[in-house]
Amino acid sequence: MNYVCSDCGKEFDGLDSDFIRCLYCDSKVLFKKTPPILKTFSTD
Ligand SMILES: [Zn+2]
Repeated sequence: MNYVCSDCGKEFDGLDSDFIRCLYCDSKVLFKKTPPILKTFSTD
């Protein structure tokens, strides 16, 4: 799972799911980075 720091915007892999902190600025406000979901539409 990739995380994005809300403070410095760096991305990193979450190493410990119980306590995630930014590796660069120690911010605890992180967002999970989810891959964009591609929706498929049927045009039948
Ligand atoms: Zn940070």
